[in-house]
Amino acid sequence: MSASSTPSPTGLVDTFNRRIDYLRVSVTDRCDLRCQYCLPEDFKGFEEPANWLSHAEMTRLIALFVSLGVKKVRLTGGEPLTRRGISELAANVAALPGITDLAISTNGTRLQRHAAELKQAGVRRLNVSLDTLNRAAFQEITRRDRLQDVLDGLSAAQAVGFESIKINCVVHSETDEAEIARLLEYTMSMGFILRLIETMPMGASGRQYRHVNLNEVGGRLAEQFGLVATVEHRGPGPARYWATADNIPALGLITPMSQHFCASCNRVRLSVDGTLYLCLGQENQVPLGTALRDGASDAELRELILAGIAAKPERHEFSTAPERIIRVMAKTGG
Ligand code: SAM
Repeated sequence: MSASSTPSPTGLVDTFNRRIDYLRVSVTDRCDLRCQYCLPEDFKGFEEPANWLSHAEMTRLIALFVSLGVKKVRLTGGEPLTRRGISELAANVAALPGITDLAISTNGTRLQRHAAELKQAGVRRLNVSLDTLNRAAFQEITRRDRLQDVLDGLSAAQAVGFESIKINCVVHSETDEAEIARLLEYTMSMGFILRLIETMPMGASGRQYRHVNLNEVGGRLAEQFGLVATVEHRGPGPARYWATADNIPALGLITPMSQHFCASCNRVRLSVDGTLYLCLGQENQVPLGTALRDGASDAELRELILAGIAAKPERHEFSTAPERIIRVMAKTGG
């Protein structure tokens, strides 16, 4: 029996009564940028290529999650558009019966080349990371001079017509608020939603920065741009939103540090070697990829997934134990 033909009557529910219907898959841990808060320039901890799951292996694992009740999948990384054949992988995932939403997180450097084929493959929504419109600041943050590529990619994506395009901007104590305002002006003019994200202490890079409480930043920007708080545009994720007077969502906040949202967590993560991570801010994991390569059957893999969900931690401890997560964000993709 194929993995996707055995739907679960109950879905994936953890011991805190949270329904897990969202899987994020890091399709590569490699990236063509080196953002200061994410990856060191000379990062040595990348996964061995021999351990990268093939498209078929990844699709098999994703299909098993879908058979157990997952409906939404996000492809992330590293930089997912550096993975060869990303659009074919996306098409395979989009074709799984039971998937209602396929999204991708990208830094946008290769979006100009890939936007149309990703849409064609069935990707509905895009999240694009962009912290500044200032070329020198972009180069400082990402250690690469690629701002123009990202802007060209965003124009291409806008022309293709995705259901939504969100711009993710990581904010910390050294971020210039005037730069965020410029970014918001740009995103509103393009019809994108700007989401501000508090830095998390993941890996040595992430711990270099102090987060700022985004509720205050968001409030000031909302006032400056005449935006009003809205609950109508709440997506499947934890962001809170402000909309224009015409009720167009424009600004969102993701506040894992100042106001965590673990009680409503609906997601788990798979890394490129098929390791299942149960929480972004904890090390609990299940080596599904190893089991798959050791010949586990679909039924055995499902049992491992269920055991993992049963062990999903109640919450992250980024604030109380910031030293805990030594893995970098690129391993699980946010
Ligand atoms: N390359 C893709 C991208 O740029 O969106 C996907 C992977 S990237 C690791 C996913 C998101 O994590 C990006 O928005 C990035 O800015 C964010 N990120 C990386 N390190 C972070 C940290 N320490 N705290 C908060 N967000 C972080």
